[in-house]
Amino acid sequence: MTRLSDWMQASGLARLDAQVLVGTVLGWSRAQQVAHPEQELRDADLARLNALAARLRAGEPLAYVLGEREFYGLTFRVTPDVLIPRPDTELLVDLALQTFDALPPLSARRALDLGTGSGAIAVALAHARPVAQVWALDASAAALAVAHANAQRLLPAQRAGGAIRFVQSNWFSALREAEAAVPRFHCIVSNPPYIAQHDPHLPALRHEPTLALTGERPSADGLGDIRYIVTQAADFLHDDGWLLVEHGYDQADAVRSLLAAQGFRAVFSARDLAGIERVSGGLCPHPRATQSAPKIV
Ligand code: GLN
Repeated sequence: MTRLSDWMQASGLARLDAQVLVGTVLGWSRAQQVAHPEQELRDADLARLNALAARLRAGEPLAYVLGEREFYGLTFRVTPDVLIPRPDTELLVDLALQTFDALPPLSARRALDLGTGSGAIAVALAHARPVAQVWALDASAAALAVAHANAQRLLPAQRAGGAIRFVQSNWFSALREAEAAVPRFHCIVSNPPYIAQHDPHLPALRHEPTLALTGERPSADGLGDIRYIVTQAADFLHDDGWLLVEHGYDQADAVRSLLAAQGFRAVFSARDLAGIERVSGGLCPHPRATQSAPKIV
């Protein structure tokens, strides 16, 4: 028989990680664990703990090992098909909610989340503003399945067929092709791939999908997808709609320039909790820079 304290010591994990695994497998709080180090582990629990610990020691992120990560006060399921939601990205949700709250009280509120991944942004928005109409797009069918499952678990309206519309789409492609009418959005949000092709941080992110980090066509400055989104978004924005994009710690100047060059108004950047300019945005160009209007309702 192995005692809890002996397993912790032999696990080779940081104490907190070991406690999180024990919490998951035994359902024990950290206080219980500290109070009962002599607890004998059952064989099945021991086997499960060892399997999870081996994955952590091999460098797999805790969120994938546990299969979940908290974001905006909600617990999202995550698989290696989706980027792990980051606290920095909560800023994007805050800003999107501000754009909703600036609209007249009874008007519609439509948001589009491009590259939804786990669905973290779209579900957080729909959860915070149940009357909002949220569309969530992703190029990856596997990611959409994760996002859809998260919406079903976290949003009561989803079960009744409301809340979020999920669409497989390479950025705006499905919206452009859609035969059904696509509405104009009051807010387009995206945490797109923005890591540069040779970024030194990439090896540390090796467990996450490259599609979400560098995108399909990695670029030297990491801005390829943001550039594309900024040039296309006006076609899908309401006249007073905002485009809000997350970007890397050193990309704010470049993203503001892209937005300004495309005619976006009130261009700004906002800082995350670490004080880093993390999201930039602007109001729909007026008059619109591009004239290839989608079908409008
Ligand atoms: N913020 C993530 C990171 O730097 C990357 C997310 C992204 O490329 N959209 O780890």
